Amino acid sequence: MTVLASGSKGNSTVIASSRTRVLVDAGLSCRELLRRMAVAGEDPARLDAILVTHEHQDHIAGLAVLARRLKIPVFFTEPTHRAWVRMLTPRTTMTYAKWLDHVQREKEARATAIAASTPTCIQTAGLAAQLAAQSEAIASVSAEAAALNRSDDSNITLELPVDPDEEELCSPEPAEQKAEQKADPTHLPAVEYFHAGTRFSIGDIDITPFTIPHDAADPCGFVFEAEGIRMALATDLGYMPPNVKAALKRIDVLLLESNHDLEMLRDGPYPWSVKQRVLSRVGHLSNDATAEFLEKDYDGGASWIVLGHLSESNNAPELARLSAEQALGNQPTLLGNRIVLAGQSVPLDPITL
Ligand SMILES: [Zn+2]
Ligand SMILES: [Zn+2]
Repeated sequence: MTVLASGSKGNSTVIASSRTRVLVDAGLSCRELLRRMAVAGEDPARLDAILVTHEHQDHIAGLAVLARRLKIPVFFTEPTHRAWVRMLTPRTTMTYAKWLDHVQREKEARATAIAASTPTCIQTAGLAAQLAAQSEAIASVSAEAAALNRSDDSNITLELPVDPDEEELCSPEPAEQKAEQKADPTHLPAVEYFHAGTRFSIGDIDITPFTIPHDAADPCGFVFEAEGIRMALATDLGYMPPNVKAALKRIDVLLLESNHDLEMLRDGPYPWSVKQRVLSRVGHLSNDATAEFLEKDYDGGASWIVLGHLSESNNAPELARLSAEQALGNQPTLLGNRIVLAGQSVPLDPITL
């Protein structure tokens, strides 16, 4: 596991077996993601796919440009894909007829791409059926778009579209193709759907997505299993429901949210409405909530616990660490768990088992 970035200004993590590499979320610009991969010693050319937890800006900012640049498939749930398309497509230009046209063009582009190359990690069966269902399911694109275009940060600048020059700088495509892609910011080399609760695989990595309580269309955490090692990723959740506690068993490396200190959030700079959102059942996990999970429900099996999605405004790394250490310290058998903190501005050293 290599955490490239974690926090409300961008999230992205590489999960790799010896044969397969996937990127979970692409919440920084393509350029910055490539830069961080270079810093962390990860070769972007070896990525097999991108997985998306949910459509908030801090998880998808560089998604389309990076996927196009690397020509790799993106795995979403269908509601997340649909929410993402709506977010990137201004309402005025997206009538139902245009959506059907969009789906048709995407279908043709993917068929061409699949015909050109069939990487082992792509399961193409059912793609056409999915697309047909999708075009039927979406009767209109509505005012939800504005509401959906949110990030986990109250900083409004994050909600702006990615720098238009990004595509130029990040993409080696010929100008003609670039112009076409610019016209359709939602174009992806390939899309695959997964469902929360249903295991699937990419290469030799088995992936079990699980639903998390968060204010997005269909947000998921993941358990990854390969070569007898299990890693899990659970950030962006308002509380710890039973299904998440159950999913986080027998994990060797656990990336877990420790978003805010309750007092700092209460006294901090966020507007009242944003404070309410963060604190809600579909917001973010506090240091206390994380500690409570570690003390009461966690089975103690992880060699590494990575605390992530720390708020820069409403948390301090020392507070998050202390809180988790105290929780583990209350169970003497768990003192062997190593705690590291994932940050916003620099990648963590790769965690290898
Ligand atoms: Zn989120
Ligand atoms: Zn987030």
